[in-house]
Amino acid sequence: MVRYTAAFANQKGGVGKTTSCINIAAAVAAKGYRVLLVDCDPQGNTTSGLGISKKEVRHTTYEGLLGEAVPQDCVLTTGVENLFLVPSTIQLAGAEFELIDMEKREGQMRRFLDGLTEDYDFAMIDCPPSLSMLTVNALTASDGVIIPMQCEYYALEGLSQLMLTIRKVKQLYNSRLSVLGILITMYNGRLNLSVQVLDEIKKYYADKLFPEPIPRSVKLTEAPSYGVPAVLYDKYNKGTQAYGKAAEEILRRTGFTAGG
Ligand code: ATP
Ligand code: MG
Repeated sequence: MVRYTAAFANQKGGVGKTTSCINIAAAVAAKGYRVLLVDCDPQGNTTSGLGISKKEVRHTTYEGLLGEAVPQDCVLTTGVENLFLVPSTIQLAGAEFELIDMEKREGQMRRFLDGLTEDYDFAMIDCPPSLSMLTVNALTASDGVIIPMQCEYYALEGLSQLMLTIRKVKQLYNSRLSVLGILITMYNGRLNLSVQVLDEIKKYYADKLFPEPIPRSVKLTEAPSYGVPAVLYDKYNKGTQAYGKAAEEILRRTGFTAGG
């Protein structure tokens, strides 16, 4: 059983979905919660970011979604205590097509998570950069969506499309879905444009914004090459500290800690 499922989604590429998902999951796991990361992107960045070789994985998100493996058999332990992973490889790209013929194709991730025999406090799903059937499956399985975004000119255009998709999934497939928060990533407060875009986001989504943006930080980009979440590899960096705070905010907003 999974107590709370969160999807990290934004159809725009390279906005920090994977970095946020790995580091928040690791920060939450470090507080003693059991966290299951689900790599739902054929790029498999979450998988390699945790130092897991894609050549060696047997059961992945692909088999899990298509019902070709026992759900629990798709879960790997990682080098991090309390952090578990359902890995992904490029094979997952084919799932888009294979799901087309399935009945309740949008509900396969939910069925997979419901079939897990071990208990997890959180499942955190790293989505691909598209509003494809993989993302729809992640949203249909989730209680909340975390939207990582960069403060760039086109960010807001993409955001309204994503919000529309979230509303549709909520209407059609999953009435409990809500936006858990918008997380600003790679923020540089010295850039006028970033400040302006952030002001604009605040105008429309002030109640959804996480209190602190994640600043740009080289440590966050280096960590995947060590196969370790940055929050564990360099605890005192400003980027990793910001992820620690975002993790605390998520625990509050989901009611795991007081003040939610
Ligand atoms: P995709 O859409 O391809 O899945 P993504 O949204 O998952 O991408 P990431 O892979 O997390 O985005 O990040 C894109 C790039 O930006 C990566 O090289 C990552 O290391 C870097 N990056 C992410 N967050 C930060 C940050 N706060 N500071 C500096 N670099 C960052
Ligand atoms: Mg990614």
